[in-house]
Amino acid sequence: MWFSKRVLELILPVTCAGCGEPGHACCPECRAGLARPAPVARGPTGAAPVYALARYTGPARRIVLAYKERGRRDLAAPLGAAFAAALPYLPEARADPEGVWWLVPAPSRRTASRTRGGPHLLRLARACAAELAATGRRAAVAPALRLGFGARDAVGLDRDQRAANLAGRLTLDPRGVPPRGTPVVLLDDVVTTGATVAACLRTLGEGGFPVMAALVLTATR
Ligand SMILES: [Zn+2]
Repeated sequence: MWFSKRVLELILPVTCAGCGEPGHACCPECRAGLARPAPVARGPTGAAPVYALARYTGPARRIVLAYKERGRRDLAAPLGAAFAAALPYLPEARADPEGVWWLVPAPSRRTASRTRGGPHLLRLARACAAELAATGRRAAVAPALRLGFGARDAVGLDRDQRAANLAGRLTLDPRGVPPRGTPVVLLDDVVTTGATVAACLRTLGEGGFPVMAALVLTATR
């Protein structure tokens, strides 16, 4: 039946994707685990610093996987809120001269978007913007990057393979870019080798959009 999943969601108690505690999509303790942004050193990511809210391990890893791979859309709000809480305090990040924070989500592969219920990072960026607005800040989401057909899932690829996988397929989407020269912050879910973030930073920078910082949910190692 078309409504069965929705009905199940109403009947079954919500449990924390990180630890299983009932009553929350992401419990206060697991949220606290996503509240310590730290710099990430990952090869040549260009001029912009990269920050991660948590290590890609334990509850944080389970939360990211539940959101990204298992369609837990109820995690978009708490994860967006975690981004919004960290963003204004990153030393290099800043809003544009009008006070608008411009958020650029890393692009999702089209096949991944289909199977995972839409571009999950775009949804995350929108949740982050909504939370910034709720705390009195102005924010805009600019889906300025797109990944063309043919790009493989990056899982299992090393840094060089990831770079080759992205070469020429990562482009600016003219429909999604902010005004030229606008300072932006890149948002992503997991940084592994740093190749994807580096390619995103390079593409934005070459297009005339200075990236102040990249903020990711989790970093491996
Ligand atoms: Zn929890």
